[in-house]
Amino acid sequence: MAIGKPEDMFHRVVREEGYWGRYEASESDNGLDGFISDAYRLMNGSFTAQQPKLVTDGGHPDLYFAAIEADDNDVNALAFIEDGWAMVGITKGLFDSLYSFFAIACQDHDLVRSFESGASTLDASEIFALLYITAINFAANHELGHLVHGHCSSAATGPRTVRRERLLQADAACRLRSQAAEVEADGYATHMTLQNLLNGPARDAAARQLGVPPDDPQLDEELLRVFLTAVICFFHRLQDAFAAKDVELRSHPFELLRINVVIANLRGWCSTHRPQLANWPNQDDFARIGGMVRNAVSSSGIEDAWDAQTAFLGSDAGQQYRDRLYHESELLRKQMEPLQWRVL
Ligand SMILES: [Zn+2]
Repeated sequence: MAIGKPEDMFHRVVREEGYWGRYEASESDNGLDGFISDAYRLMNGSFTAQQPKLVTDGGHPDLYFAAIEADDNDVNALAFIEDGWAMVGITKGLFDSLYSFFAIACQDHDLVRSFESGASTLDASEIFALLYITAINFAANHELGHLVHGHCSSAATGPRTVRRERLLQADAACRLRSQAAEVEADGYATHMTLQNLLNGPARDAAARQLGVPPDDPQLDEELLRVFLTAVICFFHRLQDAFAAKDVELRSHPFELLRINVVIANLRGWCSTHRPQLANWPNQDDFARIGGMVRNAVSSSGIEDAWDAQTAFLGSDAGQQYRDRLYHESELLRKQMEPLQWRVL
């Protein structure tokens, strides 16, 4: 096994994969670079907290997160295993596009005010920081989820498998299988992002940003709203044209279905860790948050497809597609069993 620093290994692999290298963020920067620098610290901290709970090949995997320097238009995230290290990267382009998008969302007073629980007025920049870093956390944990579920080869010999969210060429024969893998990764990301935000190191910082004491009984529900708002914004930004007839030709399930998967997993996490919130959100909560986000980002220039996706999901064809996808997820999970990591 090669001995090297993870940052050097990450830099080498992403260069071999055609990127410019590991992104060096300036810590003293007040804008995007400062957030990327925070993301290095926060994500690697969250990965360190997850490591003792993950078992692969009889040991705990070494985990590493970094940003990737690439063309500004290259909006991507990826996961791979190299020399025993499980590594996750997010391109500078993805950091950048979410940064602009969340900045637009947080110019909306209703969205910022929705997190006000007391008399105090919230600072929009604090809400921006909280939502943006929560979305980055979700994206990074999604990539780690691919590794945990065995979607990347970890064989000592043979070519390295790098799982990219945006593929150069999608394999038409495997698209429902690819969508099933995305469902699995979203499930993992939901559990781990909530664990970090409600039970982990992110909780106290989030409470400060929300202006709520850490022991306030309302804080848990407030944090769930932070998570869901961040995830809905994230999926809004990812949207592209939606056509019901092409639903199985995509590499990822359409965004409303992914949000449904996230909510099912959120309730699953709550039923274990916060039983009193196991039914959150109800239909009204979800509609309110979804409508608020949609309104807040209406000036972003992104034409959303929520109406078409809602209509499709409510149709017979939509239900049948969803059933096929969930069935495929079960098959995939069984097939991947030998490669999956154990989650303690
Ligand atoms: Zn994915």
